[in-house]
Amino acid sequence: MRSQRRIVDYSLQRRAVLRDVLSGRVGTYEVCDASPYLKNAARFHGESTEEPCPICHRENLTHVHYIYGDELKQSAGQARNRAELSLLAMTLREFQVYVVEVCRVCNWNHLVEQYLLGRQGLDPTDADDAGAALAGSGGGPALMSKRRREAHR
Ligand SMILES: [Zn+2]
Repeated sequence: MRSQRRIVDYSLQRRAVLRDVLSGRVGTYEVCDASPYLKNAARFHGESTEEPCPICHRENLTHVHYIYGDELKQSAGQARNRAELSLLAMTLREFQVYVVEVCRVCNWNHLVEQYLLGRQGLDPTDADDAGAALAGSGGGPALMSKRRREAHR
C-alpha cells in the first residue's frame, strides 16, 4: 500500500519462538493458543497466504489485519481485509495496523508486523506542495516552517 510507513517487522521474534518450540523448551500448546475471536476474525476478515503453518504444516497461514487509532472511533481494535484497509488509508489521516498470522488447524498465531497507514504519509508529495516549492526562492525547510505557522493559526 502506498502510504504504508514505520514498519516494524517481527520475523526475528517469530523465529526465536519457533526455535524454542523445535527444541522443546516451549510446548506447542503455549504458542497454538488462538482465541475464538482471532479464529473468527481469520475466518471472516483474513487473507490466505502461500505460507504453510510452521507448526502443523497442514494448512497455509491466514493473515488478520487489526486496526487501531483515535480516528477509527468504535472500529478501533477490529479486523479488516486489504480492500477495506486501502479505503481507510485514503479517508483517514493516520491509523495503526497489526498483522497477525494464524493457523486455522492447530491455532498457531504470531504477530507478523505493524505499520502506519493513512493520508498523512502522502501529504508532502501532493500537487499544491510541488507547485509552491517551484515558485518559492528558499524552498526546503523555510517553506516547511512557514506552512507549519499557517497551520497553527
Ligand atoms: Zn498449524
